[in-house]
Amino acid sequence: MPKSDINKAGWEQSDFPILCETCLGDNAFVRMSKQEFGRSCGTCARPFTVFRWNPGSGMRFKTTVICQTCAKIKNVCQTCLLDLEYGLPTQVRDTALAVGNAAPTSEINREYYAQNMEAKLEGNKSLLDTSRASSAAKDMLKQLARTDPYYKRNRPHICSFYAKGECKRGDECPYRHEIPVDNELSRQNIQDRYHGRNDPVAQKIMSTHAASMGLTPPEDPTITSLFLTNLPANATEQSIRTRVLTSLPAVQPAQLKSVVHVTKTRCAFINFKDRTSAELAAQAWANGLDIDGESVNVKWGRSKNAVAK
Ligand SMILES: [Zn+2]
Ligand SMILES: [Zn+2]
Ligand SMILES: [Zn+2]
Repeated sequence: MPKSDINKAGWEQSDFPILCETCLGDNAFVRMSKQEFGRSCGTCARPFTVFRWNPGSGMRFKTTVICQTCAKIKNVCQTCLLDLEYGLPTQVRDTALAVGNAAPTSEINREYYAQNMEAKLEGNKSLLDTSRASSAAKDMLKQLARTDPYYKRNRPHICSFYAKGECKRGDECPYRHEIPVDNELSRQNIQDRYHGRNDPVAQKIMSTHAASMGLTPPEDPTITSLFLTNLPANATEQSIRTRVLTSLPAVQPAQLKSVVHVTKTRCAFINFKDRTSAELAAQAWANGLDIDGESVNVKWGRSKNAVAK
């Protein structure tokens, strides 16, 4: 961190953190300790005002890990990095809303980007606009949302010595004496969670949801097609193709092999080059896909063998 004040131009000062209800805790008299430029932001690397507090009795102290600008850009909590409206990982929210990832990944550009975005922010308003989201996307987020505070998340971490049978502190131990279940959250890095990529928790939420909506990936791994029915009468191959791609910012256009539109029966096969893209589409379209304001049904394609039989 630079010592001279001249370099502080892009540094961030704030009076109160941007937090979700869970991280804030149920303690009405929460006291925040505040440290200006206490550390560098976990995503943009600029120094920011760090807050630390106890979210409730028997809970562990919590601290902010990203700056307010980064939190506002993505509308997430400064501590847990979950979406403030739906309590979901950004990867789940952005997949549902078809929001692409515009933030640069190199460190220098990241700082520059955050500074530029800061200038565009007004008050506490986030740059994320969900008002134009399709109804299928809104349904999906509503179904997946965790809107009630979940204070269990603030409990102390599990005692690593206890798990090995080596903790001698007994009741005095500030950590939880439980055998850990394999916790994917602990292996995640801040960058990935913030930008919504390679997030195993998000993956699990989305694949479970897709399955619950009847879109379990078929066992035959060669199936890379999805089948759309109930298309609007005026849909064309081109309009379907365009809509498919805008709804899947994480899928490269080159991975969409073909769109086969059957006008007579108002259905279409969406053929991807790879299984990963097809699975991503199934997850993103778990609640259907809106084309020209109409909700289209989505199913997995069938294997060639099954069709031949
Ligand atoms: Zn930041
Ligand atoms: Zn939080
Ligand atoms: Zn212990």
